[in-house]
Amino acid sequence: MKTILFALSLSFISITTTAHQTNVNTTTSQHLNTSTYFTAEPISEAVFKRMQGKSYKANCTIPRTELRYIRVLHYGFDGKVKSGELVCHQDIADDLIEIFQELYKAHYPIERIQLIDDYNADDEQSMLHNNTSCFNYRRVSGSKTLSYHSQGKAIDINPLYNPCVKRLRNGSTSVSPKTGRAYSNRSKTFKYKIDHNDLVYKLFKKHGFTWGGDWKSLKDYQHFEKK
Ligand SMILES: [Zn+2]
Repeated sequence: MKTILFALSLSFISITTTAHQTNVNTTTSQHLNTSTYFTAEPISEAVFKRMQGKSYKANCTIPRTELRYIRVLHYGFDGKVKSGELVCHQDIADDLIEIFQELYKAHYPIERIQLIDDYNADDEQSMLHNNTSCFNYRRVSGSKTLSYHSQGKAIDINPLYNPCVKRLRNGSTSVSPKTGRAYSNRSKTFKYKIDHNDLVYKLFKKHGFTWGGDWKSLKDYQHFEKK
């Protein structure tokens, strides 16, 4: 566990990092100056080491220089402010900073935002833990096509509650992550559900992203991408 203390203007905050969660404790207002804590930077050596052989595989065709390391604040499911990190393509870095600032201001609950490398770049494991993530050099599940996540131009939000639902020829459905089946019936009302009335949908739409929940072949309710 490591603790970093920040003293900026009148706000004093501490960020506590554990293996799978980062909590931010404020001694003044819970509402922090958003521009200070929402940053996009080139991929540092330290971050690249975490990614190599995981999300950034040996055959990755996306130059490291086109990717950005983003830090954001967000509210967790426990209502506390947390620090999150993402890797995305430089083309959507400003979009993500603005969207996550708006989500933060609205106290929108996102359980965790960690690099998928913390899950060995295993998408199913990341989704099982309801981890919000972006860049991962991989194919679309069950296909040979490279996913938009490979370019860092797609993001999955609260994936456990917003699973990917595929109808199979035999009439049954395949759900990813598997434990997200309870949330595959979108006519039901439940917490953390992304639909057309949800702020996440509205913000990504405003920034020119396509929502996987609007696709016809399969429904990927966690997924937003920008071409
Ligand atoms: Zn996705």
